[in-house]
Amino acid sequence: MSSVHYRGGRIFTGSDSWAESLVVRDGVIAYVGSLAEGDAFAGVDEVVELDGALVLPGFVDAHTHLIGLGTSLRQVDLRDAVDLADIQRRLASAAAASPDAPRIVGRSWLYAPLRGEAPTRQMLDEAVPDRPVYLISNDVHTGWVNTAALRELGIDDDTPDPIGGTITRDADGVATGLLHETVALGQMRDFLEGVETVESIDAALSAAFEHYRAAGVTAAIDMGLGAPDVAALERALAAGGGRLPIRVAGHWVIDRTSSSSSDLAQLAHVIELRERLRGPWLKVNGIKIMVDGVIDSCTAAMKKPFSDGSHPGPIWSLEALTPLVVAADAAGLQIAMHAIGDEASDIALSALETAIETNGARPRRHRIEHLETVTEENVARLARLGVIASMQPVHADPAIQDTWRENLGDERIDRGFPWPEFTNAGARLAFGTDAPTAPHPPLPNMFIASTRKSALDPTLPPNIPTYALPLTEAIAHATADAAYSGQWETLTGSLTEGLGADFVVLDQDPFTLGPDALLTARVTRAVIAGEEAAATRANESKGAS
Ligand SMILES: [Zn+2]
Repeated sequence: MSSVHYRGGRIFTGSDSWAESLVVRDGVIAYVGSLAEGDAFAGVDEVVELDGALVLPGFVDAHTHLIGLGTSLRQVDLRDAVDLADIQRRLASAAAASPDAPRIVGRSWLYAPLRGEAPTRQMLDEAVPDRPVYLISNDVHTGWVNTAALRELGIDDDTPDPIGGTITRDADGVATGLLHETVALGQMRDFLEGVETVESIDAALSAAFEHYRAAGVTAAIDMGLGAPDVAALERALAAGGGRLPIRVAGHWVIDRTSSSSSDLAQLAHVIELRERLRGPWLKVNGIKIMVDGVIDSCTAAMKKPFSDGSHPGPIWSLEALTPLVVAADAAGLQIAMHAIGDEASDIALSALETAIETNGARPRRHRIEHLETVTEENVARLARLGVIASMQPVHADPAIQDTWRENLGDERIDRGFPWPEFTNAGARLAFGTDAPTAPHPPLPNMFIASTRKSALDPTLPPNIPTYALPLTEAIAHATADAAYSGQWETLTGSLTEGLGADFVVLDQDPFTLGPDALLTARVTRAVIAGEEAAATRANESKGAS
């Protein structure tokens, strides 16, 4: 039994209301309101002076991939490398820092720093000659490896190109170290996943937790649960005595199979998980279905073709999807459907409409992920059906729009990521980051949400600035609404008496200093269920992924 009075802050409670004092008792918010009443609150054991600092509800990442994030954090980040020498220096120092690591893995490399030179294995051999080096490109479609990695992958001059992939070779037919599409996405990724161990997976999960807490995220919804994820989360829960470093909810990914009955058979396991994992620290809410791909690779399901004439279908047709959605809805599972293309969201909503007609009135909280392009009719239909729009401001960063725009190439780019259309239609809008496809820190995400400018390069022109949201609204979508999307609204997401004491204190106030402060502000305290996270690490609230 202990009570702490957090006194004299600028406390944004989550909707449009402000307070000065917050009293936490046994991990729960016992009082939020004025300084005078906070001071008069009985039974306070400890007072923490906030000195006017900004306090926000703990951020809830409505869409993430925890182990993927943790794994990417351990890789050498090459996104802002300036030239080849810089890339080589970073790899060499990572190798020197981990002399026992069997291999060096890097991510997010771009062609621009090479100034027209084709990447080769020899460039990487110069930096790390003795161990395999695997580098994944920024768009995750190309691998760049050294000679030792080619050997480890078993690729030699006689290895044929697999379907859908290319092993780049020089004039003599010798592999150069550049691996395209399925060689990178299949062979290389499968190999790297295959060498993960229980220990390395647990280390990745705890790295994700640590970075999230330091960045001010107190709860996260994992949108890609499979067996290794659930096992790691349960190990972490046991190691923490029934508690995790942040609150976690998850959706189990349903794979499209060759028959409707085997699609449906996967639901039994999710129902079992939902019954078993339903605590305040870890719970499984439902399923995730990938209805289509992405615009950057021209794999999204669009109503009209891409600018190159390609026009792929969805991963799940309406005929295949509907029985699964009806059954999951009948079982009370929460359904999250990845739908980026305007045809994919049409299919997802039609399947949900059939489920509602078939199963009748019942509590349900279904959601559609991404919604990067969507027709105005479907914005209205989504709102009418009570479906949550789950979107990621960080995906609208102007610095990463070039391919997206080129691939659509017409007026469709004028309605990309239309967040206010959803709220104007009356829909609930939940914000997240989809880390590690984008940087995980919430404050740069709020910068993009409230300005439509780039957190990576704020000098770039904003991306359709009429879609920017007031900062209070952006934060509400990343706290209260994100919590609602995870069925957490009676536990977290706003600073309300009776809810868990999940909040963050910042060293700068973007409401008074302006949105640029979101790019430099740091989280000085992150409190989860009344417990303060250990030393908040420097730089974590910044834009580095
Ligand atoms: Zn995702």
